[in-house]
Amino acid sequence: MRYLTQPAIILLLLTASCRGYDLRLLQGWDRLEMECCYVQIQEGMDPARVQTAIQWKWPMIQVLQQRFFPSLADFKPLIVVYPDQASYQRSSEHLPSNALAHYDRSRKAIHVSIDAADPVWRHEMSHLYLDELSSKAPFWFQEGLARFLQNYNTQKNSCSEQAMLPEFRVWVEKNPDALALESMELPTSVDFLDPEGTAQKTVLSGVFVYFLWTRGDLTDVMRGLRDNPKSDPLFHITYGERGAMNKLRHEYIEYLENPVFNVAPAGCQ
Ligand SMILES: [Zn+2]
Repeated sequence: MRYLTQPAIILLLLTASCRGYDLRLLQGWDRLEMECCYVQIQEGMDPARVQTAIQWKWPMIQVLQQRFFPSLADFKPLIVVYPDQASYQRSSEHLPSNALAHYDRSRKAIHVSIDAADPVWRHEMSHLYLDELSSKAPFWFQEGLARFLQNYNTQKNSCSEQAMLPEFRVWVEKNPDALALESMELPTSVDFLDPEGTAQKTVLSGVFVYFLWTRGDLTDVMRGLRDNPKSDPLFHITYGERGAMNKLRHEYIEYLENPVFNVAPAGCQ
């Protein structure tokens, strides 16, 4: 029972804080409709400047959408844009003070400063697209995919090598034991009051998604989630068979022992 109630409480808290946030958004914000997306901007921001900045970013976002979320071609995301990092932080006091941007599940919108770096945009947009594709995806897949795509170079061909996020590489090299799996149970949630545990679970999730991608498995996972949004991401590689799950786990542990950090995905055409 404890197992069931804990995630529920966390979700309720998030919904409650986001709802308070919604009320404040009703005043002092304008909404623009662009070809790519809906954009909400703080009153007083120059709409032309915002549009130019988003048009400039969009080809990069579109590559992520086309490669990883191809079924969402007609989906128009909602983006809440702040003039700078300081005003984002003032409006996001309910979040950890080092937050750069976030995805707001209750409104299905990303909140980001217009001058945020490209990796920040890629990270939040991948949360948004995945939530649209499969709102039931577990923590390890949501955050792991976002960390993988945060570091994803959209200028390269889809079959080219991609690098693992540098801070994850450090973990794999210095502390691979912290990332090993004793059973095929990947993290389903994190407790932000436990920063160390959160970091470890996040790195494990990100390294595991990178591992799946290098094997060419991520394509099957994304296709499976599109066809069956409530399914477990790993089902589409293992079909829930014990033997296949164990094999995957062993191969992951072998990967940690002989890691690669900058490779092309296997079987890619
Ligand atoms: Zn994230």
